[in-house]
Amino acid sequence: VSNTSSADANCCVKVALHIRPLIGDEKLQGCKDCVTLVPGKPQVQIGTHSFTFDHVYGSSGSPSSGMFEECVAPLVEGLFQGYNATVLAYGQTGSGKTYTMGTGFRDGYQSGLIPQAMNTLFRKIETLKHQTEFQLHVSFIEIHKEEVRDLLDSNAINRSEPMNVQANKVNVPGKPPIQIRETSSGVITLAGTTECSVKTLKEMVDCLEQGSLNRATGSTNMNNQSSRSHAIFTITVEQMRKLSPVVSTDGNVNDTMNEEYLCAKLHLVDLAGSERAKRTGSDGVRFKEGVHINKGLLALGNVISALGDEKKRKEGLHVPYRDSKLTRLLQDSLGGNSRTVMIACISPADINAEETLNTLKYANRAR
Ligand code: ADP
Ligand code: MG
Repeated sequence: VSNTSSADANCCVKVALHIRPLIGDEKLQGCKDCVTLVPGKPQVQIGTHSFTFDHVYGSSGSPSSGMFEECVAPLVEGLFQGYNATVLAYGQTGSGKTYTMGTGFRDGYQSGLIPQAMNTLFRKIETLKHQTEFQLHVSFIEIHKEEVRDLLDSNAINRSEPMNVQANKVNVPGKPPIQIRETSSGVITLAGTTECSVKTLKEMVDCLEQGSLNRATGSTNMNNQSSRSHAIFTITVEQMRKLSPVVSTDGNVNDTMNEEYLCAKLHLVDLAGSERAKRTGSDGVRFKEGVHINKGLLALGNVISALGDEKKRKEGLHVPYRDSKLTRLLQDSLGGNSRTVMIACISPADINAEETLNTLKYANRAR
């Protein structure tokens, strides 16, 4: 089985594969590497299956060098022209999504895509700020069981108490539920979340750290919630560019024409683990969560595949954004004029071969 077609440069969704190295646990268990890179091509083989992507970042040599420059830097650049963008990390729990995005704020997070995106953003702003006024905002939320949780809310830690405690609180007073809204011009907003205004790189890094800590705290209390939730870090860039004054033929300077306003956002998404929900050893609660997570990932797969299908797009195919909170939230940043990169993360270990194959198939469908 093989997808022999080469990567389509015009496709609106780019898909990269990130193969992490074997980790300590896998080595201890005596796992073998079962994913083979095809030299000189963005192609991998697992068993008799072969897959081609836009980029493959392998576990040998310098692992992920070039990933930021090739996959994310163009999206950061696009923000300055007003293009929304989304970066999605997909894969089973333990495949390296959090490591790749830098959402964990642990080991080597600084090489993650989010910290690098922040660095690039601020470097570019530095070169433009003499002619352009910038306003930056970040939000950091988590979608768990089709509910949105604000990771930048200072009360978020309190609200991630064990579920039995939380169930006794009918509602957190004075805090309306977070709602996804769409303006008449199609802009998606999240009502009720913290939008942190940031002026410096340090302030933005602090937001990533605070949210990551809140997410981690939630996960120890709530039965490893983080592997079953989608975490979305969003950077909004507003810019007011001062253009040189327009002088009309009669010599009048037109004051109203000399500013240009642009607003664009970049969503950096650490998706829920893609592994199949297992019924084992639980009272059904866990299975229900699995179903919800699959809902987001399923809807995402359907949306991306609808967007990638040129023929269907021309026929005005319905893109099923409304099928999940995740796709609804990303609606104005997936497809259309926006740029999307999916990074499929896999473990090379033979014990994970089945889930790895599922990930490769999902990612392949996105192309
Ligand atoms: P996920 O978020 O998909 O559950 P993690 O990012 O937490 O996975 O990664 C699982 C483990 O693998 C962590 O211990 C992490 O440090 C390690 N890891 C992931 N990717 C890499 C990599 N590219 N190089 C080295 N270690 C990695
Ligand atoms: Mg993770």
